[in-house]
Amino acid sequence: MKIYQGIGITPGIAIGRACVWKRSAESLPVYRLRPQEVEPEVSRLQQAIDRTEQEILRLQEKMANSLGPEYGQIFAMYRVFLQDKTIREKAITIIRQERINAERALDVVIKDLGEVFAYSPEELLQDRRRDLLDIVERIIANLNPTKRKQARVLGKRRIIVSQELSPSQLATLSHQKVIGLVMEVGSPTSHAAIIARAMDLPTVVGTGIFIETLKEEETVIVDGETGQVIIDPDRKTLLSYKQKQKRLASFQKRLQTLVHLPAKTRDGHRVNLLANIEFPEEAVSVGGYGGEGIGLYRTEYLYLNRNDLPSEEEQFQAYRRVAELMKEKPVVIRTIDLGGDKFPSHLGFGKERNPFLGWRAIRICLERPDIFISQIKAVLRAAVYGHLKIMIPMVATVEEVQQTKQVIDRSVEILRQEGKPFREEIPLGVLIEVPAAALLCHRLATMVDFFSIGTNDLIQYTLAADRGNERTTHLYQPCHPAILSLITTIVEQAHAHQIRVGLCGEMAATPEIACLLVALGVDELSMAPAAIPRVKESIRRVTWKRLVALRDRLKDFSTHSEIYSHLKNSLADVLQEN
Ligand code: PEP
Ligand code: MG
Repeated sequence: MKIYQGIGITPGIAIGRACVWKRSAESLPVYRLRPQEVEPEVSRLQQAIDRTEQEILRLQEKMANSLGPEYGQIFAMYRVFLQDKTIREKAITIIRQERINAERALDVVIKDLGEVFAYSPEELLQDRRRDLLDIVERIIANLNPTKRKQARVLGKRRIIVSQELSPSQLATLSHQKVIGLVMEVGSPTSHAAIIARAMDLPTVVGTGIFIETLKEEETVIVDGETGQVIIDPDRKTLLSYKQKQKRLASFQKRLQTLVHLPAKTRDGHRVNLLANIEFPEEAVSVGGYGGEGIGLYRTEYLYLNRNDLPSEEEQFQAYRRVAELMKEKPVVIRTIDLGGDKFPSHLGFGKERNPFLGWRAIRICLERPDIFISQIKAVLRAAVYGHLKIMIPMVATVEEVQQTKQVIDRSVEILRQEGKPFREEIPLGVLIEVPAAALLCHRLATMVDFFSIGTNDLIQYTLAADRGNERTTHLYQPCHPAILSLITTIVEQAHAHQIRVGLCGEMAATPEIACLLVALGVDELSMAPAAIPRVKESIRRVTWKRLVALRDRLKDFSTHSEIYSHLKNSLADVLQEN
């Protein structure tokens, strides 16, 4: 038995046999061309690229139909790469100048492009590098369509274990036959991970290299929650995971019975549980998990993976779709949070030394009113179709809120002139995720209609610990007394000014921490849709009286681990193991 640790990205357990998926190790043919062979070789390449484009278009449609248009959009980026001429023109130049075959020319292009990406530590750029590799592999396969290997067909239900699976490979797989996924490399933001999440397959990425030693059909356990991958488990482990899988299934079934019940403690303290989403289609499943609205819609995803800006109309359609799907339930639209680790290629981001402290979120919007106004107009127009709110990320100063209000006023004026239907009065909130905003919340509370606490960033900025750096993971401490103290201050100030306060960082999805947040007075918790039922169940098992006692003991502790153990021990009987 061997255990590998990766990052679990879709909870659930898969137990089954491995289908080992390796990149083709076949070496590419390399040969020189005679002068009269050069132009026919260029045509062969052109045809292969055209065929690839058709193929990608079909995949795009397939994904859009089965998972929703946002997932199809991932392949639109592939087509951008193909139409962008970078690959086509570079490869043609190499064929003509060096008189070598198309396969070899493509190999040179990809190596050149690979070097450009190799110096970019950003995960998103690495993900694009993988997309690019995938495209070139497809073009190479299309250079010899008759020799092309049949797409692999899974006859039986299998766990795919791969070095890295591209979104297009994932899309080509028959959904029914794949029961789990493991990738040696990859990140939670990779396209393959996004698709896997949408397919709801237990998935682990970033295990490190191990598949060379793995045999086809070997038994594999994938724990999408803990991120563990167990190869050839011993009897005891297999049995315990089978039981865990069964427990999980009956737990999920039981949680289903809670969908229409309120998130209320046994003695009647009521909070609201909402969902975090990145794509409009995710709103479809929110009600099924018992979500009472959307507490965070990360709209910047509409700006990524493309080489132009989304138009006002396109944004309007996306927000309208979410508004209509959620009916009268609230939807918090966070204005774009670009920068940090999300860089659209076309916005002219220079290299920054500290991108998380740099040109990010509201800072970009206020410097680019054209972009900001088009987004605000789209929200105001879509608000006619539902209960939309606007929330601004990364606020550090009062001026940023004042300027945002001016942008909203300006957007209203323009819409009035244009005569388009829109809703003027829509609630404005601040995402409190910078310590300065937390300490200034008594002022901010007089200026806005609600707060939401973004602890993913608040922890990073308060403890000065990069949220994406594995060497500072130990400092990423949600129950650090400084964090709990900031949350307490924010809640007190919000309530003193009669506004509601939510929390939409990842910590809200951990049941015992969610109970603590309720004890601290947070009114709304927002999390990944699938996390809602479990958090609701925990809240429904405690009493407010008990939560107050738990909260009152916080002053006795001075570290994250002491507080976390206190929570675990005090709530052991109400927290369901599954
Ligand atoms: C946060 O910072 O807590 C948050 C919810 O926003 P994001 O994770 O998108 O930065
Ligand atoms: Mg944030």
